[in-house]
Parts: sequence; C-alpha cells; structure tokens
Amino acid sequence: MTSTQAFDFAIIGGGAAGTLLAVRLLQAAPAGMRIAMIESGEPGRGVAYGSDNPAHVLNVPAGGMSMFTERPDDFVQFLTERDGSADPAAFVPRRDYAAYLANRLAQARAASPAAWTHVRGNAQDVRIEADAVVVTLASGDEVRARHLALAPGNRPRPCPFDPDDTQRVLSAWDHDGLQVIGADDAVVIVGSGLSMVDVVLGLQARGHRGQVTVVSRHGLLPLAHASKKPAVDVDIEALAALGLRERLRMLRATAKRLEVEGLPWQSLMDALRHHVRELWQSLSVADQRRFLRHVVRYWDVHRHRIPGEVAAQLQTLADAGELHHLAGRMDAARDVEGGIEISLHDRAGDVGTLHAQWLVNATGIETRAAHFPNPLLRRMLQSGLARPGPHGLGIDTDAQGNVIDASGIARPAIAAIGSLRLGNLWETTAVPDLRVDAALLASRWLATSSEA
Ligand SMILES: Cc1cc2nc3c(=O)[nH]c(=O)nc-3n(C[C@H](O)[C@H](O)[C@H](O)COP(=O)(O)OP(=O)(O)OC[C@H]3O[C@@H](n4cnc5c(N)ncnc54)[C@H](O)[C@@H]3O)c2cc1C
Repeated sequence: MTSTQAFDFAIIGGGAAGTLLAVRLLQAAPAGMRIAMIESGEPGRGVAYGSDNPAHVLNVPAGGMSMFTERPDDFVQFLTERDGSADPAAFVPRRDYAAYLANRLAQARAASPAAWTHVRGNAQDVRIEADAVVVTLASGDEVRARHLALAPGNRPRPCPFDPDDTQRVLSAWDHDGLQVIGADDAVVIVGSGLSMVDVVLGLQARGHRGQVTVVSRHGLLPLAHASKKPAVDVDIEALAALGLRERLRMLRATAKRLEVEGLPWQSLMDALRHHVRELWQSLSVADQRRFLRHVVRYWDVHRHRIPGEVAAQLQTLADAGELHHLAGRMDAARDVEGGIEISLHDRAGDVGTLHAQWLVNATGIETRAAHFPNPLLRRMLQSGLARPGPHGLGIDTDAQGNVIDASGIARPAIAAIGSLRLGNLWETTAVPDLRVDAALLASRWLATSSEA
C-alpha cells in the first residue's frame, strides 16, 4: 500500500546543498512546521563527500568550508573539537566534511522546535496541485509540500562512445567498483579534471603499479594552489563593463603585472572568485557562448585547483613514466582478449589505439539538460514543469532560484539549489556559494510562510 505524507517544506536530495538548506530551515522554523528531506542515502554525503578514501581531499582549505557565512571558522572548530587541533589552511579528507554536515544537521534537529522527517527514497516525478507540490517516489508513495526544493546535485556524464561494446568501463565516482583494478593493470582515464585526480590518488594509495594514461580533449591538467596568496584588488566593475575578449586581455595583463611584483596568478583568481556570478551575468549571450566554446577549459584548470602536494605527486608519477597525458578525442572502445581497446584521434586528426585492462570515466558532471541522467529531471522537463537553463545548461530559474516552467512562468512553490542553476549563475555548486543560497532560500520561504 502506498502512503501520502504532508509537509511545509520538502527537499529532494540530501547532499551538501540539501543539507545546508535543511539546517537553515531547522534553525529558524517555528514549532509546528514540518520539514522533509527525500534522500535514499545518509544526508550530508552526496557525490563529493561520500568517499571514505582519506586520499580524497577537499579542494578548498578547511578555513573556507564553513556551512555558515556568519561563522566562517565553524568547520575548523568542528575539526578542533573532534581532533584537538585543526589547520585552517589544510586540505582535509572529504569524509571529514560529510561528518561535519551530519553533525551540524543532528545539532540543528535537536535544537529545532520544528518536526523533521528523512523520507528514504528516490523522487521520480513532481506535479503541482492547487494547494501543494506533490512528489511521487519510486515506491509509489507521495510527499506533499507547500514548498519544494530541488537539490539533486551531480550525476556523471556518460562515456563519449557506445557503452554496449564493453564491460570494462568504470565510473570515477564508483569507489567500490574501482576496487576491481589490479595492482599491475593498465588503466586509461578519460577526463583530466578533479575526478581524474581522485582516481589516480586512490590507485596510488592502494599500491597500484600499472600504467595510467589520461586522455582529454584539451590536454590540460588542473593547476596547483599557491602556498601563499596575498589578497589583491581587482576592479570588478570595470571588468564587468567589458566584453569577453577585453576582459581576458585585462586579466592576462593583471596576472603579468602581479608576476612582476612577485605575486601569484592564484591571488587574481581568488579576487574574482566571489564575483563570478556577476561576471557571468554581465556577459552578453554571444560572449557567454564564446566562453563556453573557447575559454571554459582554461577557466576550469585555473579555477578548480589542487593542493600543491597533490600536484607534486602527479608530477612525480609523470616523471617516472607511470602517468601519461594525451590530448585526444575517444571515438570507440570495445572489449578484446584480457582488456579493452580504445580508439582515439589526436588534435592533428591522427588516429591511435590504446590497450588497457580498464577504462575509467572521469568526464565529470552532466550539466546538459538534454542529457540529464536523473529520471526526475527528465520527467520535469518533459511535463513542462521545468525548462533548460541558458545554453541548455541546468534548468532555468529566476533570480531567487524559483524554477521557471516551459511557458516562462516562475513557480514560487518550487526552487532549485546547486548545480541545476549553472546556466543562470555559473558558480553554483561549491560550498561557498551553496551556503549563501541555502540561507537566502530558507529565510525567503519562512517569511512567506509566516505571512500566510
Ligand atoms: C568529486 C567532487 C569533489 C568536490 N569537492 C569539493 C570541495 O572540496 N569543496 C567544495 O566546495 N565543493 C566541492 N565539490 C563541488 C560539489 O559539487 C559540492 O560541494 C557538493 O557536492 C554539491 O552538493 P549537492 O547536494 O548539490 O550534490 P550531490 O553531492 O550530488 O548530492 C545530491 C544528492 O541528491 C540525491 N538525489 C539525486 N536525485 C534524487 C532523487 N530523484 N530523489 C532523491 N534524492 C536524489 C543524491 O542521492 C545525492 O545524495 C566537489 C564535487 C565533486 C564531484
């Protein structure tokens, strides 16, 4: 038999985004309010923080990962309380962050007069009725809420070829699945971003000795954080007034000037970090398109950096000939005796073949609405309850995060938080952005509820 439960606020997804929002709601909701999180796993883990491998570290120093803007040292304080001491500059294991999120959620639940329910399950569909948003779960059960937040986060992109021809493709995020790789197995990793780095570090931690070949279309690797990054001033207003080409020219000139002064380019990136939304939204649509076509890969390697020690570890492996990086495009892969054969062509158009025991898909997050693997989002797009975001990235939302339907109307009962807002905001998945968005959404919802 199926059941129906009713709430004031429901959140689909219990990763960092859903947990941050839940904590904010619990902290401020009065007695009598009912809050639900729909999530099949444990809250606070999600894709990023669900890894138990201590080699998988945060890509932001601990001091930058507080859940609360008004208490910037909260994560460091959690680590200190737990471990006796903590370094705000350290890149700690991501599992510590999952423990932090779970701890602060438990504290918020204990202190809140509002009622909390973790609905274990997967949301499959959403419909709007006169007085509620109704979520149907895979079990057939229904959740009714006055306000619904979509926080379904990240799902991996599929491999760039027909997966039916091979059983030897593993996902970079499937930490258990990767255990099948033997110590001497040759591995090809497609994609060269932070997920690739996780895979290489995970293999190293297990004593892997086989050849690792990384293939990416652009041939770029994530760059390292600088050990010291003195703050620098950038005239954001002047930058935002320029077109893309002029902006890039100004940024390059600034980086050169900083270098002359003995300052790292990383200081410039940090100065831009909290203005990225404004910079993205002030680009013309044509310039946004140009950015996506020509600049995004360069932006990503400068923006999503790795700790210096990790960069040094990758370099050591490359120097020893154990890690290769090829710039090329994979065309096909098929299983052959004892392994997998991968066909690719390089940037000059020359065709090549790689042989390995395993191919690991580390191509990152699927951000294209037309290719969303999440059935919930596919259904919402099909039914017209949502429409693709700008450039087909994520789903469309208004300035407050309300989801815009296929007819162009923003639905105040359904909001999105996290990577779904990529096309609108560009910077939308990292904790420093999520914590601001979660606090704003919770206070807006609670203000609306008290008016009702
Ligand atoms: C490997 C990796 C490392 C990262 N490291 C950092 C870092 O160090 N610092 C940082 O600030 N950011 C980091 N990020 C960015 C990261 O995306 C966010 O910090 C965080 O994971 C975003 O959380 P989320 O809740 O939006 O998504 P997710 O972590 O993907 O969580 C989404 C949750 O929603 C659930 N869900 C999805 N669909 C449904 C459904 N239909 N029904 C019910 N539940 C559903 C999933 O089960 C999942 O638990 C990293 C990202 C990745 C991929």
